[in-house]
Amino acid sequence: MSRVSQRIGSIEPSATLAITTKAKAMRAEGLPVIGFGAGEPDFPTPDHIVEAAVVAARDPKNHKYTAAAGLPELREALAVKTLRDSDYQVSASQFLVTNGGKMAVYAAFATLLDPGDEVIVPAPYWVSYPVGIRLAGGVMKVVNTDISTGFKTSLEQLEAARTDRTKVLLFVSPSNPTGAVYTKEEITAIGEWAVEHNLWVITDEIYEHLTYGDAQFYSLPSLVPDLADTCVVVNGVAKTYAMTGWRVGWMIGPEDVIRAATGLQSHATSNVANMSQRAALAAVTGPLDDVMKMRAAFDRRRLTMVDMLRQIQGVSVIEPQGAFYAFPDVTSLLGRTIGESTPNTTLDLAAVILEQANVALVPGEAFGAPGYFRLSYALSDDDLVEGVGRLIELFA
Ligand code: PMP
Repeated sequence: MSRVSQRIGSIEPSATLAITTKAKAMRAEGLPVIGFGAGEPDFPTPDHIVEAAVVAARDPKNHKYTAAAGLPELREALAVKTLRDSDYQVSASQFLVTNGGKMAVYAAFATLLDPGDEVIVPAPYWVSYPVGIRLAGGVMKVVNTDISTGFKTSLEQLEAARTDRTKVLLFVSPSNPTGAVYTKEEITAIGEWAVEHNLWVITDEIYEHLTYGDAQFYSLPSLVPDLADTCVVVNGVAKTYAMTGWRVGWMIGPEDVIRAATGLQSHATSNVANMSQRAALAAVTGPLDDVMKMRAAFDRRRLTMVDMLRQIQGVSVIEPQGAFYAFPDVTSLLGRTIGESTPNTTLDLAAVILEQANVALVPGEAFGAPGYFRLSYALSDDDLVEGVGRLIELFA
């Protein structure tokens, strides 16, 4: 009998882990490491949200458990917020407040999948989807996309991946890691395809407020109302309100699914920390001014980053339309000798870049897309310019 279960032992440590750990160790040694790995805004949480949590912490009523599904007033407020931001009419009973969007993703897979059920996942994909699917006994069917289509999947590709075991399509727009944002027409077509084939859709809408230029966010079930009974929306306060550390997300779904997922949560985590829920309540009932300021900063950095990356010969990059990541194709940089090394994979190249230029990048392998790097532009303008500047120099 193995000491660690096969189920948990089979979880591969994230490919980003080695780089992140090494970057931290190098920083601790005093090296000036610039990190493009962070998937979180570099801004503090807006004051009025922090204040709401401080006030809540002083009130003993918040020192207790809440209902497993979340504070009733937060679930009510989320329904109002969803209508405001997504034009999607749902009731408070259709929400489960979770420990971050991450737990909503996990709960959604655990609640919908039986062993052998297939989930279509467009790649490049966010690192936590495969684990959630596998732990639920599901089977991931990857649909590969690349820079030539702006990392968007087509209906033909989805149809080719569909079998009689397909239960769920995982959809995310704006996308981590590619920054792709699907148009209204594309989202409608994908949703209608799912309805036609009786598929569920889990749509991850956590980057809803971070779109740039002409790109616009649309919530999938608002465009395809027929999908409402077979759709789970994942969302959270982390990216919109610079609240990654507060751990508040939610899933929206039909009542039977939410009831089942609430049962799981009632045994696993009980409820999200009360003070965090109070902070989230202040966030989603408050103004979007701070988000707009952050978005303006991300937009500026996004353009600087793309401009600078294009100065590296052999790097091909499209302007990300949403979230806060650029996803350049760097296959032409492979096989070159840098110092004493000749890296042939982006995983190895990331290690060499960290070593030689003290710049930490996430290799595409982490997202099922070797040949690419993900660079977050949620860091200061100065660090961004310094970090990409070092890359320009390294490959000059
Ligand atoms: N979905 C996507 C696409 C994400 O990028 C993230 C955060 N990296 C999450 C969900 C989860 O965010 P959190 O758990 O911090 O709310």
